[in-house]
Amino acid sequence: MYDFACEHCQGMVRERMVAREALRHKGSFVVLEDVPIGVCEKCGARYFDASVVRRVAEIGRGTCPVEKTVEVPVVRFA
Ligand SMILES: [Zn+2]
Repeated sequence: MYDFACEHCQGMVRERMVAREALRHKGSFVVLEDVPIGVCEKCGARYFDASVVRRVAEIGRGTCPVEKTVEVPVVRFA
């Protein structure tokens, strides 16, 4: 699904299964569990396959059933 050269450093991007990954969606976040993402071996940049991005869009549109919702703390740093 991944195995391509990193666009930042030309390192190899390898697939890694992660238990939880927060992905941006229109100024908010969607959390996917047990999702295969791409991680650059050299610089650690993260990549998301089109199927992962599509799933996030489906959740945003409400066409993919959501299993649970978590609250995230928000603080203004300045
Ligand atoms: Zn890289």
